[in-house]
Amino acid sequence: MSNNIIPRTQVLMNIAAKDSKPFEIREKNNAGYFGENTFNDRVMREKLSKDVYYKLRDTIKKGEKLDLGIANMVAHAMKEWAISKGVTHFTHWFQPQTGLTAEKHDAFLELDEEGVIERFRGNQLVQGEPDASSFPSGGSRTTFEARGYTMWDPSSPAFIVDGPKGGILCIPSVFISYTGEALDKKTPLLRSMEAISRSALKVLRMFGNNTATRVVTTIGTEQEYFLIDKSFYLLRPDLQLTGRTLQGAKPPKGQQLDDHYFGSIKERVLAFMQDSETELYKLGVPAKTRHNEVAPHQYEIAPIFAEANVGSDRNQMIMEVLKKVANRHGLALLLHEKPFAGINGSGKHNNWSMADSEGNNLLDPGDTPEENLQFLVFLVSTLRAVHKYGDLLRMSIASAGNDHRLGANEAPPAIISVFLGERLSRILNDMKAGKKSKKADEYIIDLGLSKLPSIFRDNTDRNRTSPFAFTGEKFEFRAIGSSASVSLANTVLSAAVADSIEVIIADIEAKTAKGADLKEAVLSVLQKYVIETEPIRFEGNNYSKEWEAEAKKRGLPNVKNTAYALDAFLKPENIEMLERQKVFSRQEIEGRYNTKIEQYITAIEIEVETFSDMVYTKILPPAIAYKNELISAVRGVKELGALLPSGSAKTEVDLLKTIIRCIDDLENGCRKLKTKIEEAEKAKTDPDKAKFIADNVKGLMDDIRVPADELEKLVPDHMWQLPKYSEMLFIM
Ligand code: ADP
Ligand code: MG
Repeated sequence: MSNNIIPRTQVLMNIAAKDSKPFEIREKNNAGYFGENTFNDRVMREKLSKDVYYKLRDTIKKGEKLDLGIANMVAHAMKEWAISKGVTHFTHWFQPQTGLTAEKHDAFLELDEEGVIERFRGNQLVQGEPDASSFPSGGSRTTFEARGYTMWDPSSPAFIVDGPKGGILCIPSVFISYTGEALDKKTPLLRSMEAISRSALKVLRMFGNNTATRVVTTIGTEQEYFLIDKSFYLLRPDLQLTGRTLQGAKPPKGQQLDDHYFGSIKERVLAFMQDSETELYKLGVPAKTRHNEVAPHQYEIAPIFAEANVGSDRNQMIMEVLKKVANRHGLALLLHEKPFAGINGSGKHNNWSMADSEGNNLLDPGDTPEENLQFLVFLVSTLRAVHKYGDLLRMSIASAGNDHRLGANEAPPAIISVFLGERLSRILNDMKAGKKSKKADEYIIDLGLSKLPSIFRDNTDRNRTSPFAFTGEKFEFRAIGSSASVSLANTVLSAAVADSIEVIIADIEAKTAKGADLKEAVLSVLQKYVIETEPIRFEGNNYSKEWEAEAKKRGLPNVKNTAYALDAFLKPENIEMLERQKVFSRQEIEGRYNTKIEQYITAIEIEVETFSDMVYTKILPPAIAYKNELISAVRGVKELGALLPSGSAKTEVDLLKTIIRCIDDLENGCRKLKTKIEEAEKAKTDPDKAKFIADNVKGLMDDIRVPADELEKLVPDHMWQLPKYSEMLFIM
């Protein structure tokens, strides 16, 4: 290799030389792998005595406490099963507020007089005590009383993560403090599911259903991500440290041609997807759909939906497995919301619904008018939740990364609104007007049964620009960031819906108590809320400027960045609702708010520092070297003097001027950035600091990037060090 070859060039050569590895043969079909590494119901039935199995299943179904005797037997069976699969260690697997998952491995190992034994006790299964002092808690726990407990959540099956030298038995757990305060993302999610169950059951009972015992929320998450060759990733400190490119000129070819979306999948990517799916199947994650997304090198994976807590665990597993398998394939997985400027970012569509214990989807319009009425109660409750607590939903998806999507020039907007589709809208509009649903078309049939509308499932019209869309039998909350845990968004959504259901039921009961007919009462209460929630309904283009103006008129909040969006967490009526639904205590909310503020500040600070480092060590040096080359060239022309026609150095001089301007703008910008960061330090509180950064630093970063991107287009290709968009997004 010549000494002159800069790493970037070498990388391109390496990728070109990569021999295509023969793909590993999959030995089994999908079903053959499915659940292989999970201690699921089938395994439990097989490995546990009948008695123990039924007691455990009851515990899981009814959410009761597990008695230690049973736990000991389950732990033993679990250990035997795990060891037979080459497992050496176990861990309580939980979701701290970092948004990642945490694990601390312990060996199945005990010493007694006779020597070493592999043992796993019931109390180790049920409860763990990691030294948890370093997890963020937003000050709701001081370090000296840092004791936090992890407790097995038996509703999510234990699973094995294969390791290079033996697997790890992962026990899905919640993480709580000594005083019972939730320190993780899972506990509030479970509490919100309880809240939904409590309130939704009341609706079912009201409509005469006495058999359902529980209602759960269900979620299916469509996960978007980017893949690039790992060699490029290793040459981009910004991708490594911040998850996104802080510099990068727009390539001549972006996503304008729309030739990537649903296009045929590159073989190398397909191999990665297939291996990822095999790993996911082993873990019992039903990965169902895969496709190319809009941007080049952007993809999506979606599993079949599950109960919210399981679905949220699975989304974490999906992110982890994809990362791991990508690495194995020499690829880097980018989960950031906006890894590349000027090109679509990544999100996570959170499909959300409610189901009763008999398996009925409560957001599926039914076959009979009565079922439809019940459906409308749930639908209107959801509308009320999004209308009244839209700011809280906006808060739940706020992060530094997601700010590049929400409220920037991209989908979805920061304004939370609901899309219902034409047919449902028409029904609600009729209800608002107090009209009978007319026999206007085949969708709405007046059954002669007073005013009960008949509703058919509507899967046809979709509005891809809506942040919260009804898609036939579920809502799709599309504004969650691709790297985020889905727990908080689902927690807040379910709490708000549970609360709205209760309000609506109370209104209905007030009417029936006075002797009103149930159906009449329901319709008249729903009418009131259809009118009240009208401002949140929007069927048009959510990306348009007109909508921004219209939303403002309607009084809908449009908070474009995290520092401000987080305020909603502390709004008294929001705290009251979350407390009323027993989802969060005030103290837990404050802790979480502080953590989120801290995470926002840290994310931006890391970006600033990384950018500055890159400017001085990777961008300015080739620019200055080129400047010097141009200077020599101009000087050379001057020396030759009269030998050359006049104006011979014009091109060089023009280029030189542009390069000098870019270099100066870049340097000045970095200095200004430094001053602003120093100024931010003077803020009295962290929230003030976050807001200062949002107002002063973020925009500046975007401005300084301009000369940096310009330089990339001017400096000779062989001198430029950072991999370019045209390479990262098109070469693999
Ligand atoms: P799309 O057309 O938006 O891709 P799909 O029907 O493929 O929609 O579903 C997308 C996701 O929604 C999948 O993860 C799917 O399992 C999930 N989903 C379907 N029904 C429900 C439901 N009742 N509750 C929650 N998620 C659901
Ligand atoms: Mg979808």
